[in-house]
Amino acid sequence: NRQFEVHYQPVIDLRTGRITKAEALLRWCHPEHGYISPLEFIPLAEETGLINKIGDWVFRQSTANAKHWSDRFTDNFQVSINLSPRQFKLDNHLFISEWESYLQGIGLAGDNVVVEITEGLLLNAEPDVIDKLLWLRDAGIQVAIDDFGTGYSSLSYLNKFDIDYLKIDKSFVSNLENSTNDTALCDAIILMAHTLGLKVIAEGVETGKQKQILVDSGCDFAQGYHFSRAVPADEFEALLNPESESVQPARTSRKS
Ligand code: C2E
Ligand code: CA
Ligand code: CA
Repeated sequence: NRQFEVHYQPVIDLRTGRITKAEALLRWCHPEHGYISPLEFIPLAEETGLINKIGDWVFRQSTANAKHWSDRFTDNFQVSINLSPRQFKLDNHLFISEWESYLQGIGLAGDNVVVEITEGLLLNAEPDVIDKLLWLRDAGIQVAIDDFGTGYSSLSYLNKFDIDYLKIDKSFVSNLENSTNDTALCDAIILMAHTLGLKVIAEGVETGKQKQILVDSGCDFAQGYHFSRAVPADEFEALLNPESESVQPARTSRKS
């Protein structure tokens, strides 16, 4: 019924303060219930297998927007897309066979795209998972580990697979101001990532103080309500536009 919409949350380069990426976040705009969170319907879509079609739609929608924004604003603009483990299963043909040629068709380079996966997928990586990860690498698409630090404690997969970004989970970021332990954890994650040649994105940054602690720790990128919520494509484009007064930092941040 055309009730899905992709919203975009700006990701800020902490060295320059500019928006260089966006995370694509799916919204179901229900005529009666309003916006329904993906947390409510993604698990069901995974269970039924519908996630393959939905995920394919999200990929096409958000890469088409990324093409427009990379042409209009900055060449190295990246859109970051969440993938469910289910999408790496053998029965998902959409993914493997069609995305690379879709990107070629719209004229977007693979390195304008990042996929976000969770640690769990890599821990018990079966051959079909590994095949798809290799395919992503061959297409030049980058890989981010989402919710880093909340899952398993095995780190060996970081060396085994070609990973580009670690995303520090918001549960660590939200404690940065009152817990020296969480500050130490963030410091350690950033140091480890940089030593391995990975970049770090902090998520759930809600205050100026959290942002400053992350800047001081050498974190590369940040996203969160301090900068902006996820917004519809046209509003996101206004944030990217240098003429727009709300670019840096955006929207909710004036107070802090
Ligand atoms: P996620 O990937 O961890 O996405 C971050 C979630 O945190 C988003 O919730 C975002 O709106 C929210 N968030 C952003 N900044 C802040 C902040 O400063 N504070 C707080 N408290 N929250 C913040 P959202 O959009 O409800 O998405 C929930 C989850 O649904 C996502 O978690 C992701 O796992 C999943 N999801 C969203 N879109 C897709 C999709 O297209 N495909 C798949 N497979 N999963 C998706
Ligand atoms: Ca994510
Ligand atoms: Ca996350």
